[in-house]
Amino acid sequence: MESKQPSPIDLLVEAHAGLERQGPGCAEETGRALAFLGDLDLIANAADLGCGTGAQTLLLAQHLKGSVVGLDLFPAFVDVLNGQACEQGVADRVRGVVGSMDDLPFQRESLDLIWSEGAIDNIGFEKGLAYWRGFLKQGGYVAVTCPSWLTDERPAVIERFWTDAGSRLDSVASNIEALQRCGYQFVAAFALPETCWTDEYFTPREAALEGLLRNYPGNETVEAFVADNRHEVELYQEYKQHYGYVFYLGRKR
Ligand code: SAM
Repeated sequence: MESKQPSPIDLLVEAHAGLERQGPGCAEETGRALAFLGDLDLIANAADLGCGTGAQTLLLAQHLKGSVVGLDLFPAFVDVLNGQACEQGVADRVRGVVGSMDDLPFQRESLDLIWSEGAIDNIGFEKGLAYWRGFLKQGGYVAVTCPSWLTDERPAVIERFWTDAGSRLDSVASNIEALQRCGYQFVAAFALPETCWTDEYFTPREAALEGLLRNYPGNETVEAFVADNRHEVELYQEYKQHYGYVFYLGRKR
């Protein structure tokens, strides 16, 4: 009997479930963003949207005294977060839930902080910020990373890559304007360093891709998935001066 063909989504989950991060980012930059939030002891309720396996969710819990809910579409990622929260003895304050960023399970005006690394562009930067604002208390913070143009030159091949991935890039200035339009006071914005892409994400992901090729020898879907991922790395190496992930922080007015 033939074994079931994995879909690209199955492969995405399989390749990423064992990684620390599912996109560019790192502990230092998460910490750098947290430093803009004033007195962290005042944050009682936080949410980490598109948390993946939750490396940054657990980091938030280390810095905050309050509780953190990590939310992601994929149960396999949420299971990793909940397992690690148990192992680290923080399961009383950290909970992973399966859900969608555009249909949040929180009460309105109940959160002090909404965090989201590498995920908001899946529903749109401005749309996400506008919708999420309703769940923040007055004075609550939002902190998100989003792929953005870093130069005025915008290579068409990069534009096409992100559009095909269901996302879009805007300049840092227009994202800051969007944040302000959505009813936030602008707090800070800074670009993630190259190591967040390479050492923290692409290198461990490449090892996972090698694993997929071993697990599914000769499988064309797997080969195409691996080729797409490697193409992303090649594009980044060639065009990285033009785009990158930027952390945006705002405070609900
Ligand atoms: N925040 C993690 C990190 O920085 O390592 C994961 C980032 S990964 C690039 C994007 C995450 O967003 C994935 O875990 C994906 O499953 C999740 N995601 C995408 N669309 C989503 C949606 N509509 N609702 C919830 N999670 C979503």
